Amino acid sequence: MDAIRVRFAPSPTGALHIGGVRTALYNYLLARKHNGTFILRIEDTDQNRFVPGAEEYIIESLLWCGLKPDEGPGFGGEYGPYRQSDRKEIYQAQVAELLRTGHAYYAFDTTEELEARREKDPNFKYDASVRMELKNSLSLPSGELQNLLDQGVPYTVRLKVPDNQDVVVEDLIRGQVHFQSQELDDKVLLKADGMPTYHLANIVDDHLMRITHVIRGEEWLPSTGHHVLLYRAFGWEDTMPVFAHLPLILKPDGKGKLSKRDGTRLGIPVFPLSWKGESAEDSFTGFREFGFDPRAVLNFLALLGWNSGTEQELFSLEELTQAFSVEKIGKGGARFDFDKAKWFNHQYIQTSPNDALAREFRPYLETKGLNISDAFLQKYCGLLKDRVHFLPEFWDAGHYLLEPAVAFDPEAVSKKWRPDLVPAMEGVISFIRDQAAFEAGPLHDAVTQWLKDQQIKPGDILTLLRIALTGAMKGPGVFDMMELLGKEASVQRLERALDHFKNSVS
Ligand code: GLU
Repeated sequence: MDAIRVRFAPSPTGALHIGGVRTALYNYLLARKHNGTFILRIEDTDQNRFVPGAEEYIIESLLWCGLKPDEGPGFGGEYGPYRQSDRKEIYQAQVAELLRTGHAYYAFDTTEELEARREKDPNFKYDASVRMELKNSLSLPSGELQNLLDQGVPYTVRLKVPDNQDVVVEDLIRGQVHFQSQELDDKVLLKADGMPTYHLANIVDDHLMRITHVIRGEEWLPSTGHHVLLYRAFGWEDTMPVFAHLPLILKPDGKGKLSKRDGTRLGIPVFPLSWKGESAEDSFTGFREFGFDPRAVLNFLALLGWNSGTEQELFSLEELTQAFSVEKIGKGGARFDFDKAKWFNHQYIQTSPNDALAREFRPYLETKGLNISDAFLQKYCGLLKDRVHFLPEFWDAGHYLLEPAVAFDPEAVSKKWRPDLVPAMEGVISFIRDQAAFEAGPLHDAVTQWLKDQQIKPGDILTLLRIALTGAMKGPGVFDMMELLGKEASVQRLERALDHFKNSVS
């Protein structure tokens, strides 16, 4: 088999939807698995839909996820240029070839004329049944074509779809898919502005870039009949790529396709990175800014439509590469289960080293104006990581340990504080102050032993210590927090809390 060459071919029409990242991932995995080549091609021939910044966004998203193209704009490669707007002449030359061999024809119908037809007949299709009634190089009297071309009358070039052909697409996921050529319209290949349509550019590029496998979203399956006809028209059928159309990504409730509006509606990310569009409706928070680890995002996406056939859920990119096969991609839509995404991220946070977590979390602290040492922050992340699903939650889960002073929850205080506990609290604080070893384990043992010796009920005091350290009845282990804070800060908190308790009305 020839070396595998796959491409991810997004159109820069806005932020790249998370489904696009999944498509890129599956292409990447297939390439990596077989020592093949993963190509990024920017399909920007539709000038009307071009959005500035979208190409940069696509590239940044791929790099954030670790899906670096082997070839592509800015990545090198011998089959460039990799941006379709830079390949205009190539398409024009190829279209000239189709015109010469009679597989394509000039069409001079104006937009208004075609609209008028459509108004009369909503089912109107520019196809074999009507093409001789329309204004094109097949229907015009001989000589007229040259006249129109000489006069510079605008034209499009259309594919001449052959009659009565059974067009078969062998799809790796869906098996054989049949199209009857009489149901296919004569697609425009070259537009009046001289730009190719998606169909033409896509096929020409896949051929010239020696693409072996086309892995793309299900929404492109209906176009594939035309694509096969184009390969036939060019005489390239022998080297036609293998197709694999990926299942849809469904809304969290499984009802219909996941859309960008679902993200806003449900307050969840459906784009890899944040995007600032022209309006609020067109601006989104990304997985990255939500605090996701890109490895978790890839793991989550990999399992959105594919499964390894085993119980394993956590995969590194390397493991995914080994386990991946296109044949194990399902046909049915895959539900976008955000809780599952959170679960994956939680798993990655739990297994991440504390220094990496501290580094990633630090930017979230910057806005708070707090000066926290690396050593403290690393320990802090270690202490809280099993309670956190994504980075910003490191703040919610333990901000009271980072802030200089806690705010006391009056309800917790009034529920747990009793004035008769003053001596016990004073005693325990002074006992704690005298401890040399300030590590959670020994501290726990010493304090509980002391409480026992003093015949003080541990429940009463330990809860108050917790409130003293956190302001409320929350947080990780009391002695873990003390170890993190150190003796001085712990004792300070306890003393301040006791003052507060004494002054509280119980
Ligand atoms: N430009 C198309 C898109 O935006 C590519 C489809 C394909 O991969 O053929 O998805």
